[in-house]
This record gives sequence, C-alpha cells and structure tokens, in this order.
Amino acid sequence: MKKFMELVPKGVKVAAVVWMCAIVVLGIVAGCMFPHWGDSGTCHMGVVASVAIGAAGGLVMGVFMAAWTLCLGYVYADAKRRGMRPVLWTLIAALFPHLFGFLLYFALRQPMTPRCAKCGQPVTLDQRFCSWCGTPGPVIGGSEAGPGAPGAGSVPAV
Ligand SMILES: [Zn+2]
Repeated sequence: MKKFMELVPKGVKVAAVVWMCAIVVLGIVAGCMFPHWGDSGTCHMGVVASVAIGAAGGLVMGVFMAAWTLCLGYVYADAKRRGMRPVLWTLIAALFPHLFGFLLYFALRQPMTPRCAKCGQPVTLDQRFCSWCGTPGPVIGGSEAGPGAPGAGSVPAV
C-alpha cells in the first residue's frame, strides 16, 4: 500500500482530496436544499438531520471517488514506467464499467521496463544497445557471459 501511494503522482493525490471535500460539501449543500430528507413524521429535526444525511452520503461517495482517482493515478504512473501508453491506459481504466478496465490493465501490462545503466532511459529487453546513448543494452540475468565474467574462459585449456 505504501508503494502504491508512492507511485501515484502528487497532483493526483491532491486532486483526490479536493474531490472528496467537494463531494462532502455538495452533500451538505444538498441536505440544506432538501430538508425533507430528515423528516420522519412528527420529528422536527428536519434540516439538521438532512444535512447530516447529506454529509454522510457525500463522505461515502467522496471516499469512493477519491479511491478511484488514486487508482487511475496509479495506472497512469505504472503504465508510464513500464513503457506503455499512460493516457490510453488511464482512459481504459476510467471508461470501462465495473473496474473492468483496471482488470484489463493488470492482465495486459508489460513487465517492468529495464533502464539503461548509463543514462537511465527505459530500454526494451530485446534492445542490444540503448537508443538514447548507445550504451550496450540492459544486462538481465547475465545469460550472456561477457569477457569480464568470472570463471568461463579465464583458465586457458592445456
Ligand atoms: Zn542510455
């Protein structure tokens, strides 16, 4: 969960909080505008009860919307660091109903993009050289034993 929050862009976190507050305020305003929500026959707590109901409803909605916003922010940041199209995937996650877009994203997302050791730009696994600075490509697993590898080749066969 901590990692999740670290990845979500700061602007999205701020937006989620603003969103949540706005919806709670909206709930309170709605409670004021519709004082009959709180009416229960003879009870004269009308307006106060309506505002409380509005605020509670707004809070539930607000928390839900904030969580959704944070998830979209996560998809955006995660797609970006994996070399996928962040805007496209954020839209897919946002527009598919019943969180199906999120499931699709997690099912189809690419493995983490390795980065060039020299310049830090993302490079794909099949690239032999960094397309940004020309450094020989990502060393992963070490299946190709280079000249500097210990063991193999260092002892001449007699
Ligand atoms: Zn590079």
